[in-house]
Amino acid sequence: MEVDRGRTVGPEGARVSDVSLILRSTRVLTPDGTRPAAIAVSGGTVAAVLPYEADVPPGARLEDVGDDAVLPGLVDTHVHVNDPGRTEWEGFWTATRAAAAGGITTLLDMPLNSLPPTTTVAHLDVKRRVARGQVHVDVGFWGGAVPDNVKDLRPLYDAGVFGFKCFLSPSGVEEFPELDQERLGRSLAEIVGFGGLLIVHAEDPDTLGAAPQRGGTAYADFLASRPRGAENAAIAALVAQAKRLDARVHVLHLSSSDALPLIAGARREGVRITAESCPHFLTLTAEEVPDGATEFKCCPPIREAANQDALWQGLADGTIDCVVSDHSPCTTDLKTPDFATAWGGISSLQLGLPAVWTEARRRGLPLEDVVRWMSAGPAALAGLTRKGAIEAGRDADFAVLAPEASFTVDPAALQHRNRVTAYAGRELYGVVRSTWLRGVPVVRDGVFAPPAGRLLERNHRP
Ligand SMILES: [Zn+2]
Repeated sequence: MEVDRGRTVGPEGARVSDVSLILRSTRVLTPDGTRPAAIAVSGGTVAAVLPYEADVPPGARLEDVGDDAVLPGLVDTHVHVNDPGRTEWEGFWTATRAAAAGGITTLLDMPLNSLPPTTTVAHLDVKRRVARGQVHVDVGFWGGAVPDNVKDLRPLYDAGVFGFKCFLSPSGVEEFPELDQERLGRSLAEIVGFGGLLIVHAEDPDTLGAAPQRGGTAYADFLASRPRGAENAAIAALVAQAKRLDARVHVLHLSSSDALPLIAGARREGVRITAESCPHFLTLTAEEVPDGATEFKCCPPIREAANQDALWQGLADGTIDCVVSDHSPCTTDLKTPDFATAWGGISSLQLGLPAVWTEARRRGLPLEDVVRWMSAGPAALAGLTRKGAIEAGRDADFAVLAPEASFTVDPAALQHRNRVTAYAGRELYGVVRSTWLRGVPVVRDGVFAPPAGRLLERNHRP
């Protein structure tokens, strides 16, 4: 067919003659549904989503990926890169390669486990300096809210962090202390003052303190030491603070399905609260964790199968907005067999998409849902208006996925610095064939291009 030249002009004014790439597939996931389409890319931006049969403009390259699905690049807003300071755990180079291999084109780095933590502008500058030239995908930063840095929050926000993370119980590293309720109120009031977002590790320290702390190799004992009640109590207190201050808050790594009605109810009352869950809570169960297998340890913990079913219900009804990795690696020696002392954290940057897609597929849910939870949802959370969808005016960031192809997880094939994984040996659906950033392949069939990611700043426009 003839290209209607008028219709190929995108909102950014890209003309047909500027189109450098046509990426074509019989399955392009657009906000209006999945269909055969030809994505016209100009200057790293989607200029238009054209009919599949559209002529290739003169000078443009055609990439036809056949029946492989083209997804908007995934956005992972919960990643611990640990760089600088704990680079033996992970780093910008390896984390962003793993992300790209997993179909992720944007990640936001958590403010803790690096040294320094991202709690002042000077620390943020250090992190940016270290990251520059090392990132294969786009990277942005969360700031941290700790007891003594209320005065640093606004300068950090002005410097471009996407919001602030805090803990309500000990974080696991001494340089990033938790906030008690009084300090939470103080930090939150400051953040409300400039319209920011607080993202919260919500486990209540008193409930944790009252739980049996038996330690040892039995997973059941570890699970009992981090009860659902700790999450439920912390989220209830957070809702109360958010309501009192009219604050915007986000619950990180929700594991307790008991808290879903609380979150849904608060939202109905107008409280600005969102929530995320993680691939491990949605695909792994407490019943199957072998004793001593601390590669499954994270906080809050992986819970029972019935809890997992309820989390999927929370995704289906929209109470849970996002699914993000909480990629939090460490060196192998820190994963000792004792659940009480082993480092808590599960590495899944490279595996989140196939893990979640495999379980969604088993439950009869479509790939479009996975894209909503893992791309559009996190992009919306962080205000990344150029990410999260394949439509004119957004960055030409794509994941090309063979949804019906399967593979067995081989730790040796992971790009993470430490190849400890809770998914070893699992059979997963969804092979990422290639990942594209601003119209250029980052990785294709396992071959990486030189790093071309950018360091992102929060959108300063309202
Ligand atoms: Zn985390």
